[in-house]
Amino acid sequence: MARPFLLDLSLEELAQELRALGQPRYRAHQVWEWVWRHLCFDFARMTNLPLALREALAERFRLELPAVRAREADEEGTEKVLLELADGASVEAVLIPEEDRRTVCVSTQVGCPVGCAFCATGQMGFVRNLTPGEIAAQVLHFAAALREKGERVTHVVVMGMGEPLLNYEATLKALRNLNDPRGFRLGARRITISTVGVVPGILRLAQEGRQFNLAISLHAPEEGLRRRLVPLAERWPLAEVLAAADAYALATGRRVTYEYVLLGGVNDGLAQARALAQLLRGRLAHVNLLLFNPAPGLPFARPSEGQVELFRRELLAHGIDVTVRRSRGLRIQAACGQLRSRHLGAAGAPAVQGAVKNGRGGGNA
Ligand code: SF4
Repeated sequence: MARPFLLDLSLEELAQELRALGQPRYRAHQVWEWVWRHLCFDFARMTNLPLALREALAERFRLELPAVRAREADEEGTEKVLLELADGASVEAVLIPEEDRRTVCVSTQVGCPVGCAFCATGQMGFVRNLTPGEIAAQVLHFAAALREKGERVTHVVVMGMGEPLLNYEATLKALRNLNDPRGFRLGARRITISTVGVVPGILRLAQEGRQFNLAISLHAPEEGLRRRLVPLAERWPLAEVLAAADAYALATGRRVTYEYVLLGGVNDGLAQARALAQLLRGRLAHVNLLLFNPAPGLPFARPSEGQVELFRRELLAHGIDVTVRRSRGLRIQAACGQLRSRHLGAAGAPAVQGAVKNGRGGGNA
């Protein structure tokens, strides 16, 4: 049987495992610090632990980070990696450097059950949920690489492959572990969870008692179009999604971000901007406009710059805070899945290595 992954454990669970090995609680804290603070993924190097304990841990647990199967980088330093998990499945993670920020975008599922019409991942279907350790390992991968340059991960956005609130337990456990002040110490306000609007998950998140940022992928201001773009919207209508977002803002005092990917000629009209403003009026809200980048197999076009500007101004004119996210590919879900698609053939077989090279990724924003 495969050994369990140590990164899947909370500190409390680690303490229980060590207790079962006859170890006092402080040993769990030592191991926790080695892993989550010092980014040490080799038990043999945990030199303040007795040799016998290091060996016992190595026999019982896996600790190595997922292998990098493919990598793409752009000229601005954005780096996307395809990480191979223990069972051979692979997911994408992205590092986005911006001034003094080092943001990592993580995946929470292999594939995605939501099937958004403009998303490469959505076209793959759903394979499985990631475990907490597999989610956190994406952050730790980049944290270890940044440490070599004297830098650290400053922000995490849960916007990669998958719908995080359909893998609630694992996602939240990973984020709690990253947030733990005894280990990785990433503040909750530096973590953003993006959802297409899984209402029970949003309401549950509001009760977590943590100050995570919430981003709702809206993409359309009216029900019919939204259902065409985001099939899951059939289940949770706009009014329910917005009510849940309001509950989140009320419980946490955090402003909710609404993501809106502009698809040329589909949802970028001025009437739609006005309808969006109408929906968000009076709410503690900010809109991120994202520009769709055409990708093979996705039947949408990038909006014109002029139309993007008109849309932005219309929102501003109606008192809605808005930002246009133009580049740094990969910032949004619509970008994800493209590296994986290119690297894996349709049947999941690895494509030729030459298909993966440095250059601008398939990013969508
Ligand atoms: S945009 Fe997000 S929720 Fe929609 S299919 Fe892609 S990964 Fe899933």
